[in-house]
Amino acid sequence: MTISRQSPERDSATIAAIATPPGGGGIGIIRISGTGARPALSAIFHPKSTRETRSHQLTYGWIIDPASNRPVDEVMAVIMTAPNSYTREDVVEIQCHSSYLVLQNILALVLKTGARLAEPGEFTKRAFLNGRIDLSQAEAVVELLQAKTGEGHQIAVSQLRGGLYEKILKIRETLAGIRAILEVAIDFPDEDVEIINVVAMRENITAYLLTPLQAMIESADRGKIYREGISVVILGRPNVGKSSLLNSLLKEDRAIVTEIPGTTRDIIEEYLDIKGIPVRIIDTAGIRENAEAVEKIGIRKAREKQQDADLILLLLDGSNKLPPEDLDFIASIDPQKALIVINKIDLVPDHSETLDHASFKNRPVVKISAKTGAGLPQLEEAIFTLVTGEQKKWEPGHDCVPNVRQRNSLNQALAASRRLLRALSENLPPDLIAIEVQSALDSLGDIVGETTTEDILDLIFEKFCIGK
Ligand code: GDP
Repeated sequence: MTISRQSPERDSATIAAIATPPGGGGIGIIRISGTGARPALSAIFHPKSTRETRSHQLTYGWIIDPASNRPVDEVMAVIMTAPNSYTREDVVEIQCHSSYLVLQNILALVLKTGARLAEPGEFTKRAFLNGRIDLSQAEAVVELLQAKTGEGHQIAVSQLRGGLYEKILKIRETLAGIRAILEVAIDFPDEDVEIINVVAMRENITAYLLTPLQAMIESADRGKIYREGISVVILGRPNVGKSSLLNSLLKEDRAIVTEIPGTTRDIIEEYLDIKGIPVRIIDTAGIRENAEAVEKIGIRKAREKQQDADLILLLLDGSNKLPPEDLDFIASIDPQKALIVINKIDLVPDHSETLDHASFKNRPVVKISAKTGAGLPQLEEAIFTLVTGEQKKWEPGHDCVPNVRQRNSLNQALAASRRLLRALSENLPPDLIAIEVQSALDSLGDIVGETTTEDILDLIFEKFCIGK
């Protein structure tokens, strides 16, 4: 696929960055892109063999500091000659030992050859600007890097393979066809023959514009939760089993743990995968380290926490009579976004008075034992049903699932298409009808990045990490 993007101030500097994450690992990669990539490699790389280095083939050798002649690391290097590379420019990747010092040293040598440090996402931005991928595919790269569940991954892969791009392309073709007819009608206003067949055009618009646009918007709405996930807070008095519940959920679901670097507190984010939905447990450290926090902070704070979370699990101890604080807790929660979870059912016979308390009326209740794991699958079902309003897990399959930005543009395109239908019905002059066609085309152009402004592009690529 080819997309041409003419930008007068295109930056032609050679860029370089460490492409692998910091920290231990077997291999670290330095990536270089631009006309200076090959010269940079030649300046610092001493291949073992004297054979000429061929594109897309790994070459073994040493990185030697040209100023001091000091060996830096034993590496494998690859050149990917333009245009068959990630950025469509000459790209060089150096695979070295993944030590921070080694990576920094090699990067410094590369920068000395005249390359500059790449900005976040700049390699992918170049792939987009050079027409290898459209904007929806560039966005898919970030989503692929950040996907937390199989479903999120599948959505990103489908978009990276051009799923959304191709659908948009098809709709744009329909619009271009309509525009061509309108242009003839504008150019030959006095023709006797009817140039615009209103009935056929309306049918075309409904089948090839409205229907697919509506389907994509629906898909965006359904997929949103799989892409963005939800946040959950577990509330409850000390010793009701909050840490135990968290631990058994984490064990059950192979939690995805992400460290967030650059924060002063050592925050570890933990995600559960509940039927494909990434579920973030808020304030995990707080639950673990300070079991009394909830009691100290009381109901007011609990209310505040509810505002931060998409879902509250209010945990009660089913093995004892409910104390008044719990009744206050129950009264304070919003049943639309809270589940009452009764723990420790292993300690009580079924149907005891505590388990069927009058104050639970009309509120969703799940009975579990964090200790034995009983009821956990039902808890997950209940979480899923409450946040999606559905019973069944959604299979994104090969469907494309637009993100929020893309959905906004789709909405605009849909509104323009509806105005287009109306303009046709009202027999408006073809030049006025053509305005709506152009408006729909422009909105779709935003999705693939043809009409996207520089600010929006910056916002999108800022989300990337350096080296991507
Ligand atoms: P937290 O203060 O709310 O985080 O409560 P903990 O998770 O630390 O649990 C308090 C006590 O209750 C611990 O001794 C747990 O072993 C125990 N406990 C937690 N859940 C259960 C359960 O389902 N059944 C039983 N029998 N004990 C539990």
